Amino acid sequence: EFSGRASRFRAGGDSFALLFMAPRATAQMIGDALVKLCGEPYLVAARNIFAPASVGVAGGAKDGAELIRQAEIALLAAKRQGGASARIYAPDIEPLARADAVALESELRQALDDKQLDVFYQPIIHVPDRAVAGFEALLRWHHPLKGLVAPADFIALSEETGLIVALGRFALARAADDLAQWQRYFPLSPPLFVSVNVSPRQLREVGLESQIRAILATGHIAPGTFHLEITESAVAEEPEMPMILARLRGMGAGLSIDDFGTGTSSLSQFRHMPFDTVKVDRSFLVRHGGTDVDADGEMVLGSVVNLAHDLKRRVVVEGVESERDIAFLARLQCEFAQGYFFAPPLTAADALAFIARHYDSATALP
Ligand code: C2E
Ligand code: MG
Ligand code: MG
Repeated sequence: EFSGRASRFRAGGDSFALLFMAPRATAQMIGDALVKLCGEPYLVAARNIFAPASVGVAGGAKDGAELIRQAEIALLAAKRQGGASARIYAPDIEPLARADAVALESELRQALDDKQLDVFYQPIIHVPDRAVAGFEALLRWHHPLKGLVAPADFIALSEETGLIVALGRFALARAADDLAQWQRYFPLSPPLFVSVNVSPRQLREVGLESQIRAILATGHIAPGTFHLEITESAVAEEPEMPMILARLRGMGAGLSIDDFGTGTSSLSQFRHMPFDTVKVDRSFLVRHGGTDVDADGEMVLGSVVNLAHDLKRRVVVEGVESERDIAFLARLQCEFAQGYFFAPPLTAADALAFIARHYDSATALP
């Protein structure tokens, strides 16, 4: 109905947006067509993969932000009615969305008290020798009914309500304890590091700085091995950010720009900021119609890595899913890689086993 005239973008996580002009009367039809299209199985490595999608449709909002908000509420309604369907925004579904958010918020508070929250660790691999160099800490929620819940389903809301501050304190403390343990058991050179995500809301809280200072003062962690990850957009949007970052850096925390390339910033904008590492978003390794990174993608990734190196920053590329990806990164002389090819985020016990398995073996990973 609208091919050729629609613009596409990623709205965050695994959600995508299409913007197009169409008569209001066709909204449901277009939504249903999208659901049908996404509901088709597709073939990967000779297996049928099903990835059904839910669709929320909105139109005629007063501005772009409101349009997206309404579409997201419609999406929530579609998911609530079982998913794999399309819903059109209408004002009467607003209370439903609010009730949802309030319920989630109180569940999450309870979860923190009931120790349902956990930190998983995804290995970050040193590309030249494929040894484990460190881990990214990633929050998980063991929900009593829903099972393991990924951050995509609770971080955004907890940022809005401020609960992220408590969640973040928990993640930072846990990651520091686990790092100390790894370094005690496995005295590698250079020592293993851990990288913890922090959101803008956390960075504005004075408590963060005192927590980081306390963590670094324990003496249980090798200097320079406790890193913070801050998304590109958070850095770009907050005018006070350079000062906050400079203070954290001054205390001895490592700093990474996360999800680099998903926003509109260019690396040179960050050249005066105290970052030591750039984490390139996995979308740069997006494969077109197969397993290959396409030629344009290669060129763009190559230039990001080169520019980062010119600026004396280290590079981690996220989303490495194949031998081909890692071979390509080796050619680019990229320092670090992270992705399902090596391991998904692991429980603390599995992370320990992962290190142990590779500790004194000269064999390359994986
Ligand atoms: P992120 O920091 O960019 O984390 C990387 C995400 O990519 C993780 O999702 C990870 O599981 C996923 N990933 C890793 N390798 C691959 C791969 O090869 N292919 C694909 N398709 N995906 C891969 P996860 O764990 O769901 O985390 C999502 C986001 O939630 C994180 O994005 C981070 O921004 C946020 N987050 C997680 N933990 C925390 C936390 O403690 N505090 C804060 N503020 N945010 C957190
Ligand atoms: Mg991250
Ligand atoms: Mg990232």
